Amino acid sequence: MAGGLIPLDEARDRLLALAAPRPSLSLPLDQVTGLMLAEPLISRRNQPAADLSAMDGYAVRSADLPGPWRVIGESAAGRPFVGTIGPGEAARISTGAMIPDGADCVVVQEDVAREGDRLSLTGDGPAAPGVHIRRAGHDFADGMQLADAGAIIDARLIALAAMAGHGALRVHPRPRIAILSTGDELVPPGNPLPSPAHIPASNGVMLAALLSSLPCDLIVPPLLPDDRATIAAALLEHSQADIIVTTGGASVGDHDLIQPALLDSGGTVDFWRIAMRPGKPVMVGRLGEAIVLGLPGNPVSAYVTATLLLLPLVRKLLGYQQLVAATSQAIAGEPFPANGPRQDFVRARFHDGALVRLSNQDSGALSALLQADALVVRPIHAPEAKPGDPIDYIALLQGT
Ligand code: AMP
Ligand code: MG
Repeated sequence: MAGGLIPLDEARDRLLALAAPRPSLSLPLDQVTGLMLAEPLISRRNQPAADLSAMDGYAVRSADLPGPWRVIGESAAGRPFVGTIGPGEAARISTGAMIPDGADCVVVQEDVAREGDRLSLTGDGPAAPGVHIRRAGHDFADGMQLADAGAIIDARLIALAAMAGHGALRVHPRPRIAILSTGDELVPPGNPLPSPAHIPASNGVMLAALLSSLPCDLIVPPLLPDDRATIAAALLEHSQADIIVTTGGASVGDHDLIQPALLDSGGTVDFWRIAMRPGKPVMVGRLGEAIVLGLPGNPVSAYVTATLLLLPLVRKLLGYQQLVAATSQAIAGEPFPANGPRQDFVRARFHDGALVRLSNQDSGALSALLQADALVVRPIHAPEAKPGDPIDYIALLQGT
């Protein structure tokens, strides 16, 4: 177990090195949104499989233009015309219907007048053969690679896979994440507080909300007391999960029991304490197949460490390439003091296009966290940033 503070980048690398996506399996299209394609998407058919009309109108021979024609039947989507269009003949046709044999263009409905089976041109008509026809295979052909392995599956990819003949896709499964909130003082949100010593448990719902941006299955057991044996049993019970994330009990106080409980349950501690503020008492360990990520109890610390460590960990398990939240650059709108030996994540907001600190930087101050547009990243031992100096930040978008 490491004693000193570990720089955040090193801690994150060590955490991510513990994680790998579970073996791939085939899942139905309605269960794969946000997952990563584990093999290339190969088309199983030509699309369209035949020449189709792109418009509502009449299928005719271009040699017969400008008409008139005799309407001899209809080709509708799913119910093609059986037979051949001969000289002077036309078939009523709708969008997506097959072009009948013999026909080579479509006159749109707005360009013709029809009386009984007599059809005459009133507008310009098609300029050339092939007009208003979607050619067989013009979207994609059988055997074509439509997406690379590693693509993140979205609505467009699902539509394409379905059209290409797939009902399921090979993916790495959704990570299973157990969220354990510990603390004798905690009461479920919205419930009456028995005494001023109690507080609403905000971390569990915050973590669930943060994770809702990624495909994963959450397991959220009831709040846990500060009792070593109870916590050890709960850890063991969830050792089948891919990640057990805990909040609270992560320091070295008498009631900070995550580490001893993890060891009691047969787990191991990989490292503990990161050189960052907020969020120093983060712990990383293992229990069976599960990675145990012990986050601080302080709500802002829990949010910042979940953003910087938990989300990248889940992305790694999903197989994503892009793991870490992007850092951007902005201008300091006021002095940012020289920093000490811990990387600082300063809650800040934009004022006239420049970043200014929120006055309440307490690691429990959720109202200041909500007002923040950004976490300004202050490196270890950074010198003072003067107004107008460039500073790095991580955007906190509303709704994330
Ligand atoms: P701990 O890490 O247990 O020392 O907790 C640090 C601070 O975070 C204490 O003020 C706790 O009351 C608070 N805290 C712990 N767990 C939660 C939680 N789930 N929701 C909100 N605050 C919490
Ligand atoms: Mg506690």
